[in-house]
Amino acid sequence: SKKAIVIGAGIAGIAAAIRLAVKGYAVSVFEANVTPGGKLAEIKKDGFRFDAGPSLLTLPGYIDELFALAGKDPSQYFKYQELDIICKYFYEDGTRLTAYADEAKFIKEITTITDEPAASLKKQRANSSKIYELTNPVFLERGFSGLNSLFNKEALKALVNLPKLDTARTMHRANQSFFKDKRLVQFYDRYATYNGSNPYTAPATLNVVPHLEQQLGAYFPQGGMYSIINTLVKLAEELGVKFHYQSPVDEIVLNNKVILGVKVKGELINADIVVSNMDIWFTYKKLLKDHPKLHPQKTLQQERSSSALVFYWGINTTFNELDLHNIFFSAHYKAEFDHIWKEKDIYHDPTVYLNISSKLNPDDAPRGCENWFVMINVPANTGQNWDGLTTQARKNILAKLSRLLNRDVTPLIISESILDPRGIESKTSSYQGSIYGTSSNSKYAAFMRHANKSGQVKGLYFCGGSVHPGGGIPLCLLSAKIVSQSVGR
Ligand code: FAD
Repeated sequence: SKKAIVIGAGIAGIAAAIRLAVKGYAVSVFEANVTPGGKLAEIKKDGFRFDAGPSLLTLPGYIDELFALAGKDPSQYFKYQELDIICKYFYEDGTRLTAYADEAKFIKEITTITDEPAASLKKQRANSSKIYELTNPVFLERGFSGLNSLFNKEALKALVNLPKLDTARTMHRANQSFFKDKRLVQFYDRYATYNGSNPYTAPATLNVVPHLEQQLGAYFPQGGMYSIINTLVKLAEELGVKFHYQSPVDEIVLNNKVILGVKVKGELINADIVVSNMDIWFTYKKLLKDHPKLHPQKTLQQERSSSALVFYWGINTTFNELDLHNIFFSAHYKAEFDHIWKEKDIYHDPTVYLNISSKLNPDDAPRGCENWFVMINVPANTGQNWDGLTTQARKNILAKLSRLLNRDVTPLIISESILDPRGIESKTSSYQGSIYGTSSNSKYAAFMRHANKSGQVKGLYFCGGSVHPGGGIPLCLLSAKIVSQSVGR
């Protein structure tokens, strides 16, 4: 059978391996790290377990699809529950707001807490669904091979300017047109951060994101997020995929413009096709460094998405007012984004995301304790003084949480690990530690991501958050699907 090599065991690399194995390929995955998952990793420390990266699961159907494709019953492998409470929100003015999955309940919550009429929310939702219906079939689910083939420049311009896509105004402007209440504008602006972008510059097309979470649902996998990786690796192995850990690929080897294989620890390993799940920037700059003519300069120069600063805190008590997902909003959202995108530093009052998986998976913390994943959005790594920024941010975050929870949090911390953009960059080879590849801060950005199939090298493919259609688990899974479709057969 034909041989396929996948570079990297991130979620997209594993999904691509499964799809190619189902197609009859003999698949080998080479992963630099000791364990699979890439950004979707886990940390075990002092009796606590943390999901190190993603914590919110949307569109789990794309995971089920992989089992179904292999002729297995997904529910036997992968179990998850839909959340009734999607997230709890805390504002500096004392407002507490619960985002219920149920539309009627959420409308009641909003109309009780604010003066906003139900009609505002209905308008927002209709808009969000409309953009989803428009973009999903033609854009997300399909291989978009860039300017050269599918679209010429004029066609692209026409597409991007379709009034229904709402690219002409920013997300923030659109949300201001739906809501009078500033708290709700902020609530919906936050969805720009789901792909590492800025609501004050990103096109209103990104208002598609709340549709995924609020209308298609937020989910939690049994056993936590890392169970996604465990179960997919198991499926891949059952299909005959061979995983090689601690095996970084050093070079993609070509014969003219045809794939020959990859070099691992000095050895050439032949393959008919190679799928890189490594960040597109490093794929070219490291693995194809001897082929500068192949480098797509424009794509490589695109602005990167934001990164993250994460504290993993073991807390020696429990908080009843907290849920699985919690947000503590900045009092000055615009200033926070200006700091991330213009100053490239951290605002003194950042929006804090607190995820507590032990709320649903009690094994993740010792009895009477909670595992706090505390994250703020920060700029991509361009050489800032991260040690200094982290020390300052830690103080500000603890003050904010203590203020909004009416309790001094600092003495409750009994275990700590920290992840900053440098760590994300070095652990997963993500250029500048960005967590979603490139940003979507311009109206063309979404259409400028690198294609999933090389237009120049026969047998070379790309998957993962840095290429089309984008970052986040569902889009990474779609990139693998598009790869397998473009491989043919
Ligand atoms: P990656 O996870 O980037 O993995 C790439 C793999 O390739 C790594 O294992 C790396 O070691 C390996 N590799 C790289 N180079 C080589 C080489 N030369 N040879 C061999 N192996 C190599 N998404 C969501 O959907 N929901 C969330 O809530 C969410 N929150 C996030 C929070 C944080 C803190 C982070 C960091 C990310 C978050 N994301 C979230 C984004 C999500 O994690 C990513 O989009 C997704 O996991 C990226 O998967 P990937 O397939 O692109 O590969």
